[in-house]
Amino acid sequence: MSDAEVTSLQTVAAGGSTVSEAAAGAILTIDLGAIRENHRRLKARLNGVRCAGVLKADGYGLGAAQVAAALMKEGCDIFFVALLGEGIALRKAIGPGPDIFVLNGLPPGSEAEAATAGLCPVINSAIQLKAWREIARSMAKGLPAAVQVDSGMARLGMAPAEVEAVAVEAGAFEGIDIRFVMSHLARADEPQEAANENQRREFERLRKMLPVAPASLANSSGIFLGPAYHYDLARPGAALYGVNPMPNEPNPMLPVIGLQAKVAQTREVDTGAGIGYGHAHQADAPLRLATISLGYGDGWHRRAASAAWFEGARLPFVGRVSMDSIILDISALPASRLREGDLVELIGPSQSVDDAAGHAGTIGYEVLISLGARFHRRYIGA
Ligand SMILES: *Cc1c(COP(=O)(O)O)cnc(C)c1O
Repeated sequence: MSDAEVTSLQTVAAGGSTVSEAAAGAILTIDLGAIRENHRRLKARLNGVRCAGVLKADGYGLGAAQVAAALMKEGCDIFFVALLGEGIALRKAIGPGPDIFVLNGLPPGSEAEAATAGLCPVINSAIQLKAWREIARSMAKGLPAAVQVDSGMARLGMAPAEVEAVAVEAGAFEGIDIRFVMSHLARADEPQEAANENQRREFERLRKMLPVAPASLANSSGIFLGPAYHYDLARPGAALYGVNPMPNEPNPMLPVIGLQAKVAQTREVDTGAGIGYGHAHQADAPLRLATISLGYGDGWHRRAASAAWFEGARLPFVGRVSMDSIILDISALPASRLREGDLVELIGPSQSVDDAAGHAGTIGYEVLISLGARFHRRYIGA
């Protein structure tokens, strides 16, 4: 992909409109070089096992097309999305080369559209298997797919009884080129849980009933459960984007995003001033305040981390998070040190995605995919 093409894709990723850096209320920096380094780090752990890239929900909100282009430079040629529509868009963006798998399977009636777009379904049920087989027959050619079995998560994939049934059905896989038999771990981020080993054993049992094919089990955290979980293909998402795959240990991944918000206004208030909606905060001393142009309308959870940072100084939020703004107490900074248009850090060296998530009682994944359509997006490290 040429740089010009990547640039035009960036325009699309920014919600169809290019918000200039000058016009935007906040700037999201996405380090494609860090994503590539994270892919290399995972590959180093995988010891020769192939490593896909999971790009569902627009590459965890960071731009599926841009992330795919970066990972392709690392030789990554297998991608996973959740929905057919995401697959169609990604195929248009990256061209015919890499395999694109649709994790949620195909809605009934969409098989021809998927086949024409050159996408591989993850077949999650006997009904989906039959539909894909029939499309292959009608197109008179073999069609690729992955087959997912439910090894103990009860979300997607063929249940054990279904696997047993298709295993003995004559011609069940006729015309289907099974690229992978796969399953997904429910508790991979809790390495001490027996559920992991139980799922691995069940995966072993189920896949042996199916036609011989390469196998795939590990998501990001699954990679860190060790080689027994690696099989022939790993499917990391979150770790590529800098989310810690081992929540109780130091993060082995590079941070990928930075988020900075612009100061819209500064002011001074006297003791007793009511600040923001509901006057949820009242000044107990004269304060200097800055209002920044970022709020829950940008995906900043009302309970997410409650401070911004500027040149090493912590600037606590005061009062409630509004839809489009947050008020900071900047009294710790020298007067007029922070001015209109200056940028403060919401996510960066002082506060990670996982830190922000922890405050909101959520996970880094949700913080990432929530982050706003209104931001100026700056891709670096391509
Ligand atoms: C989301 C997903 C992944 C990637 O999971 P991470 O935890 O983000 O690495 C892998 N496989 C399946 C089936 C998924 O749904």
